[in-house]
Amino acid sequence: MPLWTLPSSLVERIAAGEVIQGPASVVKELVENALDAGASSVCVWVWGGGLEAVQVSDDGCGIPAAELERAFHHFTTSKLASPDDLGRVTTLGFRGEALACIAALADVEVVSRTEGALAAAQLALRCSEVTERRQAARSRGTTVTVRRLFQDEPERRRLDRRREEAKTVQVVRGYALAHPHVRFELHLDGRPVLSTSGSGSLAGALAEIYGPHLASNMTAFGPLGDDRVQVRGLVSRPPASRPGRHHLHVSVNGRPVGSSPLLEALEAALRPVFPKGRFPVAVIHVLSPPWAVDVNLSPTKDRVHLLFEQEALALLPEAVRDALRAGPPSLSRERARGLALVASWPQATPAGPPPQPEQPLSLLGQLMGTFLLAEGPEGLYVIDQHRAHERALYDLLLARRGGDRVPLTEPLLLELRPHQAVLLQRSPGLLEELGFSLEVFGPYHFLVREVPALLDGLEASALEEALRDALHDEGWLERLLGSLACRLAVRRGRALTEEEMGQILAAYRAPGAPVLCPHGGPIAFVVGKELLARQLDIPLR
Ligand code: ADP
Ligand code: MG
Repeated sequence: MPLWTLPSSLVERIAAGEVIQGPASVVKELVENALDAGASSVCVWVWGGGLEAVQVSDDGCGIPAAELERAFHHFTTSKLASPDDLGRVTTLGFRGEALACIAALADVEVVSRTEGALAAAQLALRCSEVTERRQAARSRGTTVTVRRLFQDEPERRRLDRRREEAKTVQVVRGYALAHPHVRFELHLDGRPVLSTSGSGSLAGALAEIYGPHLASNMTAFGPLGDDRVQVRGLVSRPPASRPGRHHLHVSVNGRPVGSSPLLEALEAALRPVFPKGRFPVAVIHVLSPPWAVDVNLSPTKDRVHLLFEQEALALLPEAVRDALRAGPPSLSRERARGLALVASWPQATPAGPPPQPEQPLSLLGQLMGTFLLAEGPEGLYVIDQHRAHERALYDLLLARRGGDRVPLTEPLLLELRPHQAVLLQRSPGLLEELGFSLEVFGPYHFLVREVPALLDGLEASALEEALRDALHDEGWLERLLGSLACRLAVRRGRALTEEEMGQILAAYRAPGAPVLCPHGGPIAFVVGKELLARQLDIPLR
């Protein structure tokens, strides 16, 4: 075929397709405009999954009547004053494209009024052409209504309505959580599905979106960091979790971001704490100076590059882990003394805020060499001895409480693959801090000389295997500690002494101890008193 230059109408449609991929993109762009206009209240109405209509109204600064038409021209914006501003974007929008793209794909009507204007101005557009101009009545702010999206592209209208609705909910949730001082409302086909009060409290917005029950299971952290990058947020404690990743909300300077190394680091830090396939609800706010955040990476503006990404990556997993980490297992001196099981178990010094004091469990015995049976206020506890011990060991190692360093009888020479060596060298202090002594011995070779006393007795080959298996990605440290704890923990099928059982039970019952093993398996199962009474058909005392 000979070369030809595409007509501008087709160029516009191609470009518009990059910005507007579906109704949820329309909602996203209009919500961003409302927030950039300084709105304190944003209402979103969606009909027919957004293919019928989307309406977003705000109480922001409004668009001057004389500029209303130009706002729909391509690359027309009030948000960049000079080319240099692209390097320090402070608004959510800056490309001056969204309204033009939406007008190229749908029928649009806008009503807007600025402070002090005598009336609101109204404009209707069809296929990017203005079809109507008139005055209208409304208070300060802007309402944009988008009808019949993709009307000229029947194949693109075949979107799944429910999926589009779900994406819209996800978009509005993300902005409402990134801007807790703004009041948000979302209605689907006239049904209210989300509403926040704009109180400014992140925990408040979270409770309004996810319900008070979940909010009461959240733990806050930060702000941490310095003037280069700051991180703060909320994360749910196990067992409060959801089946998908889409409740991990990360925003950078108020912009919800989709895929990002930050999200990956967050996921890696949470993996050992939550069951497989389950994720917490987490809201993370990252703040960094505008000149250190590049937002000009894609037409959808939902990816950013942080100049201080490494700093943020170093802060985030630690912050989240600290928030979730329960106090270390506490044992009385008498119990800890003379035990072979975990000789170096430390004395109780609960870290962080004391959680509710729990009534101790009384040990009944061991079942099948695998389960500890104990009585508690709720009924019969059946505890997996391996997982309970594994969890306690993992927490000790992670809390840098694995005891003094002890030398290996023979230093372990570790030969790694190049990418594994890079991972290890990227954070050289991590293993040292936990009580390992490691020397660089060649490009991909390391010499391990000392280990935390808790690992004394572990075969060097087991340590080597655990290190090699763990070093895949940023989550290697948790994986390593999980695998070491698993190797050290008492096996299923081993008869335990009463003293050993008492120790495991006390660690399991320690204030705030997690209820899942480091790999996400449940540690215990409670047979409630009511169930026992019902099964045996006897009255409950
Ligand atoms: P951008 O947001 O990148 O500037 P848009 O096409 O989304 O581009 O909007 C174009 C311009 O229209 C904005 O720069 C702003 O001046 C104006 N505008 C759009 N929506 C609103 C709104 N809700 N309130 C006030 N001004 C708005
Ligand atoms: Mg915009």
